[in-house]
Amino acid sequence: MTTVTRCPACEAPLRAGLRPWHRRCAQCDYEGSTLEAGINDDARHAAIDEAAREDALHDLRMANFTTLLRHIGAARPEGRRLLDVGCAHGWFLELARTQFDVLGIEPDGAVARTATQRGLPVRHGFFPDALARDERFDIIVFNDVFEHIPGAGNVLGACRTHLRPEGLVVLNLPSSRGTFYRLATLLCRAGSCGPFERMWQVGLPSPHVHYFAPANLARLLARHGFELADSGTLATLRRKGLYTRIAYADRHGAVARRLQFLAIATMLPALAVLPRDIIFAIARVGAGPASRP
Ligand SMILES: [Zn+2]
Repeated sequence: MTTVTRCPACEAPLRAGLRPWHRRCAQCDYEGSTLEAGINDDARHAAIDEAAREDALHDLRMANFTTLLRHIGAARPEGRRLLDVGCAHGWFLELARTQFDVLGIEPDGAVARTATQRGLPVRHGFFPDALARDERFDIIVFNDVFEHIPGAGNVLGACRTHLRPEGLVVLNLPSSRGTFYRLATLLCRAGSCGPFERMWQVGLPSPHVHYFAPANLARLLARHGFELADSGTLATLRRKGLYTRIAYADRHGAVARRLQFLAIATMLPALAVLPRDIIFAIARVGAGPASRP
């Protein structure tokens, strides 16, 4: 297991959390994990019905990507060259290429091949190793990716290297202030940690290693020389596709799944006014070197 000892947002020592792999920062509320990824690990892939997962998330993701692209446009990027890190099936690339000159990077070989076969410019590999040293972009986007990569500071350092002056980094990720995450935390404190482990994607090919909130995310970005240009929240759930989404990685029976579906579907109107579980941040490379605390 990886040893994570310091908070990436404020450098304070991390404390033990709710599970053996869970860590939290007492100073800024950042949460992290020592969970390890198993991309290209066939055994873990078998746990997910990829087709069902894709179907369940498609409409919601497309709606959120449209919102995100509107915010990226409003941040007035200097140029049109856009990199999508961990682009998966290329849904964001498909939307973004109507406005930008796009490139995707995807670590899962099979997924990258499928996207390429659909005519999308996707390179197989990891960020930043899949890039040439002198490749530069105006925008680097992480859609549901940043929370999976250990070493947040190194990732932002690599972004600075591969961004042109005034370039934008765009992070779209789950929030520790979200309603579902808070409910899962409460349940885990009460002794029922299933939903909490689900939020961290324990046992899935690429579990979460970070949970940020708007304030500590802004702090992390500032520490690494980025100025926040825009931030906000995105929708987590829609009724359409909800059942498939609950079912896609569930080990429980059909009855439990239907009960879960009914409970969440009933709560949807209330959830619309509660804190959302996805946040985004758009930040610009600052003029000076990365600031240190
Ligand atoms: Zn901290």
